[in-house]
Amino acid sequence: MSETHHNYVGGAWSPAAGGAVFEDRNPGDERDLIGIFPDSDDDDVAAAVAAVSSAWPAWAAGSPEARAEVLFKAADIMARRADEIAAELTREEGKTITEARNEARRIAANFRLYAGEALRLNGESYATEANQFVFSLRQPVGVVAVITPWNFPLSMAARKIAPAIAAGNGVVFKPSEVTPLMGQRLVEVLLEAGLPANLIALVHGRGATVGQAITRHRGIDALTFTGSFAVGREIARSVSTDTRVQLEMGGKNATVVLDDADLDKAAAIIQRGAFGLTGQACTGTSRVLVARPLYDALLDRLTAAAGKFKVGPGGEEGVQMGPVATRAQYDKILSYVDIARDEGARVAVGGEALRDTRDARFHHGYFLTPAVIADVPAESRLLREEIFGPVVALRAFDGLDEALAIADETEYGLAVSLVTNHLPSVIRFARETRHGVVKVNSPTTGVSLNAPFGGFKHSSNQAAKEQGGATVMDFYTRIKTIYLGA
Ligand code: NAD
Repeated sequence: MSETHHNYVGGAWSPAAGGAVFEDRNPGDERDLIGIFPDSDDDDVAAAVAAVSSAWPAWAAGSPEARAEVLFKAADIMARRADEIAAELTREEGKTITEARNEARRIAANFRLYAGEALRLNGESYATEANQFVFSLRQPVGVVAVITPWNFPLSMAARKIAPAIAAGNGVVFKPSEVTPLMGQRLVEVLLEAGLPANLIALVHGRGATVGQAITRHRGIDALTFTGSFAVGREIARSVSTDTRVQLEMGGKNATVVLDDADLDKAAAIIQRGAFGLTGQACTGTSRVLVARPLYDALLDRLTAAAGKFKVGPGGEEGVQMGPVATRAQYDKILSYVDIARDEGARVAVGGEALRDTRDARFHHGYFLTPAVIADVPAESRLLREEIFGPVVALRAFDGLDEALAIADETEYGLAVSLVTNHLPSVIRFARETRHGVVKVNSPTTGVSLNAPFGGFKHSSNQAAKEQGGATVMDFYTRIKTIYLGA
């Protein structure tokens, strides 16, 4: 059953000022209309910024306990509603129900983490003469704009909204137009937990309309974005110099298999990192760099494993890989399989468009089979460009120097993983690689919610790390230095 949904601005649910709308459909069955959402514009953004601007100073002036309490309550509500919201996430984004539950259940922990940060925010005092105090005070930045992608529609948004409100800011939130319902659910949970009505505004719509309107609005004090490098770069170019900007962007992540690796273990790690979440994770494994003596044996294992992967609707029992999230993603991923062939690589397995096959279950969704690409020329686009789908390209290397050089040769630097028990190689690799996340004997995907997260090069603008760690609140606060004399 489909429903007409609204923005949440100024404490009320309402349509876009201009009346425009867009449709939200199930990527596993495009006949399934999930809902109609407002396609907002400059006027909606102006109203949202005005409402949030008027509300955050009172929130910031209140007690940190009160801010923490809202986030603790939101965690309880999220924990209670996690399975129900996970089912909607599978319907809206396509990921398997297990993946959706993992994401939804984690939001409660995320809210609790930032409830703690509300209580832990502090400044420092500095050595000075006896007749004065010099100290620093952390204050909120004001109106924080949150622009998020569709692949983790709950967790990407929660890890921005929760620290923003913990620090006393107000939030203008634009979820991806591919997953607007998940954006709405998060806002509902926060409101039910007692977040003041004007402290958050939800403005739905496309990047080219409402996304740009937010970026251009001079009332935004900080903008935190997760998405593609192309859009991140555009935001960086058009945002006001007075607006603080955090950009978390794409990756071209590699798993590096050294010559001592256990091949079954390596294959299992790669399969999980490359095909889990239908390959649509910013940390997804897209390249496999393997010591030359192991190349053929690893290729055989990966090909066999990918050939057996169970693809189907995310809600179905036993399905390991759901559909990709949009028609554009589907076409783009398949185009990279064609590029592989054109460039002289060999598609060892997969890369088939299931929509065009005889199986009627797949006719109305964006299902494809996971692909393993072998004999990839060193200059191939498959080894450089972010595909963001279940396609993995193999390349052999000779020695650790070459492994390091190839791992770092792309413009991205998000996650890299190593499969080896050779500690000296691990230590050297971890120190020298230009990736923000280095994992050993585990997939490139899957990160701790309380550890710093972010990439190097085109993967992140390095404004401050996201998630946990000492610096996470730096983005959401400004430091004022006070000289207190008698
Ligand atoms: P996207 O860049 O197309 O869109 C992200 C968000 O930006 C959406 O809400 C979109 O509507 C908005 N947007 C689009 N154009 C805009 C514009 N001109 N101005 C302002 N906003 C605009 O990305 P996507 O397809 O939603 O997500 C996939 C991308 O996200 C991949 O590149 C992936 O690697 C990246 N990602 C990165 C991380 C990370 O933490 N580094 C995590 C998840 C996803």
